[in-house]
Amino acid sequence: MKFAITSKGDNKSNALMHKMRTYLIDFDLTYDEEQPDIVVSIGGDGTLLYAFHRYTRRLDKTAFVGIHTGHLGFYADWVPEEIEKLVIAIAKTPFQVSEYPLLEVIIRYQHGGRETRYLALNESTVKAVDGTLVMDVEIRGQHFERFRGDGLCVSTPSGSTAYNKALGGAILHPSLSAIQIAEMASINNKVFRTVGSPLVLPAHHTCMLKPVNGQDFQITIDHLNLLHKDVKSIQYRVADEKIRFARFRPFPFWKRVHDSFVAD
Ligand code: NAP
Repeated sequence: MKFAITSKGDNKSNALMHKMRTYLIDFDLTYDEEQPDIVVSIGGDGTLLYAFHRYTRRLDKTAFVGIHTGHLGFYADWVPEEIEKLVIAIAKTPFQVSEYPLLEVIIRYQHGGRETRYLALNESTVKAVDGTLVMDVEIRGQHFERFRGDGLCVSTPSGSTAYNKALGGAILHPSLSAIQIAEMASINNKVFRTVGSPLVLPAHHTCMLKPVNGQDFQITIDHLNLLHKDVKSIQYRVADEKIRFARFRPFPFWKRVHDSFVAD
């Protein structure tokens, strides 16, 4: 089996990366950064986001596992003290795979046919470059609302515990094939109206954002933040692709939610 390791880059994560690499090679696994069957991410959830984006072109062939060197994570659920156990599990056991849904983002531009397609593991957000974001929101081809406010956040179920949660969105179990739209400080008064609640869309529904004022937007895809000019529309839906996590033991999602947000 071929493996790769990504590290957050701090001393603790790097030391662990070197140790893990040596152990896995001792167990006859091959280090291959280009075509790994398994990617071990060492750091935090943010590190796994970077690893995901590095290997988005081979999601059907690569599984991910995360070790956290800081606080408990949603994607990084092994602790450094367990690395010998994890190495043996990777080397000896045919692992189970848990698949989580991803968000597909298609950005189309004025003047021409080109479009860009991204996959997000957590979410995509849209903000105006300057001032209030004004966007027409279409759901399943029908006008839904004209949004005015700071921005919109469209998240995956596993991303629902990240930015989406800070916006008052619901936490969705990653077995649900859905996306969630959450508002950032919408303007609501006698003139302007938005629904005001987060919306959860099933896999066969598409959400389309169409600019009303201005065509330049600050659009994030997980940790990537880019300025997009001359935008005609931004389309969101559940992607056909999924991320595959290598599972060597049960670690129920609601326990991770409890341990991260509720437990002392
Ligand atoms: P960052 O600003 O360095 O870290 C953001 C925090 O979000 C980190 O504590 C990270 O955990 C945590 N996180 C990432 N994915 C998560 C998940 N699925 N569930 C719960 N927590 C999660 O940025 P970054 O490391 O490059 O990560 C980018 C992410 O930051 C974005 O995808 C977005 O979700 C999040 N973000 C959150 C807010 C907010 O909550 N107000 C604002 C902007 C961005 P680790 O420490 O384990 O890496």
